[in-house]
Amino acid sequence: MVADPAVLYSPAAQSAAPSREQRSSEKLLAVDNVSLEYRTRERIVRATHQVSFDVYGGDRFVLLGPSGCGKSTLLKAVAGFIEPSAGSIALDGKPVRGPGADRIVVFQEFDQLPPWKTVLQNVAFPLRVARKLGRAEARERALHYLDKVGLAQFAHAYPHTLSGGMKQRVAIARALAMQPRVLLMDEPFAALDALTRRRMQEELLRLWDDARFTLLFVTHSIEEALIVGNRILLLSPHPGRVRAELNSHQYTHESGGHEFQQSVARIHRLLFEETEPAR
Ligand code: ADP
Ligand code: MG
Repeated sequence: MVADPAVLYSPAAQSAAPSREQRSSEKLLAVDNVSLEYRTRERIVRATHQVSFDVYGGDRFVLLGPSGCGKSTLLKAVAGFIEPSAGSIALDGKPVRGPGADRIVVFQEFDQLPPWKTVLQNVAFPLRVARKLGRAEARERALHYLDKVGLAQFAHAYPHTLSGGMKQRVAIARALAMQPRVLLMDEPFAALDALTRRRMQEELLRLWDDARFTLLFVTHSIEEALIVGNRILLLSPHPGRVRAELNSHQYTHESGGHEFQQSVARIHRLLFEETEPAR
C-alpha cells in the first residue's frame, strides 16, 4: 500500500515534518531563503527566489522541478561555486563560503573524468590531493569504492573505453571515496538509456543502504524523484520557488502500478498548476 503524497503535502512556507528516523539524525545542511541571480551584460536573471530547505544526516533529499527552474544553480550554490544574492547556506552550522571537500558533486556529463588518468587514478588522485592520503592508502580506498560500484576489474582502464553508465559509476565511486558530508548529484543519470538509468538508481539505493551517506539529488523526472528520494522539494518553473515538500521514502521500483502513477500525476499538478491545489 503506497501512501498518498497529497496527505503529506505541506504549504510552501513550512517544511514537511521530519519523520521519526530523521528526527533522530542531525541537521547537516540549512538553506535559508536563498535567492540566486546571474548578472549578464543586459540584465539580471533570477534563477531561484527565496528557497528554503533543511537536509538531515542520511537524507536522500531531491530537488525536483522543470528545466530552467534553478536546480543546478541551487546545487552550485550549495557546492560553493555561486554566492546567494540573498539568504544563507550553512553546513554543520557554518556558513558555506566556497567549494570544499565536504561537498562533492557528480554531474550529468560523461566527460567529468580526466581522460588521461586510468579509472583507479581518477578515484585515487583527489584522495591524495584533497584528503592528503598516502599513495598506498589512496589506492586501497579507491579500489574499495570501485569494488562497491562493480568496477574493480576496470581499475586500469581509461575512461574512453567505458560506457556512459560505467563512467558515471566511476564518478560516483570517486565522490563516495572522498566521504563528503553531503554528496551532491546533478541529474547524474539523465543522459543514460532508460534501462541503464533504472539500474543506476537501484545501485545508488544499494550504496546508500550500505553506507548511509547524505544525498542532495537534482532531477526533473518525477518518477526518479519518487524512487531515489526520501524527501522531495518541489520547485516551480522559472524562477524556482518552493511549491511543496513531500515525504517519499515509501516508493521503490517495485511500487509501480496505479497508485504510483496517481502520485506522479498529483506531483505533476503541484508542479505546474498556477493555483495551489485543495488539500
Ligand atoms: P535547471 O538546472 O533547473 O534546469 P539552471 O539552474 O541551470 O536550471 O538555470 C536556472 C535559470 O538560470 C535558467 O533560466 C537559466 O537560463 C539561467 N542561467 C543558468 N546559467 C546561467 C548563466 N551562466 N548566465 C545566465 N543565466 C543562466
Ligand atoms: Mg540543471
